[in-house]
Amino acid sequence: MRVLIIEDNQDIAASIYDYLEMQGYTIDAACDGLTGLHLAVTSDYDVIILDLGLPGIDGVDICRRLRQEAQKLIPILMLTARGSLENRLEGFNVGADDYLVKPFSLKELAARVKVLSERSGRIPPSQLLVGDLSLNVGTHEVHRAGQCIHLNPILFRLLTFLMQNAHRVIKREELECAVWQDNPPDSDALRTHISSLRQLIDKPFDSRLLYTVRGFGYKFTDKNAKD
Ligand code: CA
Repeated sequence: MRVLIIEDNQDIAASIYDYLEMQGYTIDAACDGLTGLHLAVTSDYDVIILDLGLPGIDGVDICRRLRQEAQKLIPILMLTARGSLENRLEGFNVGADDYLVKPFSLKELAARVKVLSERSGRIPPSQLLVGDLSLNVGTHEVHRAGQCIHLNPILFRLLTFLMQNAHRVIKREELECAVWQDNPPDSDALRTHISSLRQLIDKPFDSRLLYTVRGFGYKFTDKNAKD
């Protein structure tokens, strides 16, 4: 199992490094955001331990960029000294899988890393599945209920992001950023593409997956959308 630690506090980084190494993990460490992001994009890890406050690019930004630009699904455990609810929600909104507030015990950290690393081993990162809809990030194949669905590149990016963030409310701006980065064409473009996507992946089938959450954005789920 390979773990990447991105943490600028040398003492904390060293103690995590030593503790996890004793448990048999192979570890890389970065002490600033840019180096960490570079390692995360260019190498394969089973878990990333990511500090929120970092010089250069902060933890929230790294998380967002890994999820949206590099489409990396590696489990991320976010560390933060700030324990407020707001930060907690921000961490989850950008795609962190778990959250630990400093100071924490190394034993607890190791337990959470173990859970996350097992999760990463079970799910092949290239295959996304929500209900009876599957999408392969590598081959670009999309299937629902045994039928092959062809999507143009924008709809494919849109669906990939929706599936990577399934079962939670996704803000319109998040989706626009995932599809067009910083240059969304105009405010109606997303709505138009969502509507085209619905025609292809929802309309011909019995159950619905893509829901509009009025005033917020969208939710992609095979469970009750109000949960
Ligand atoms: Ca820090």
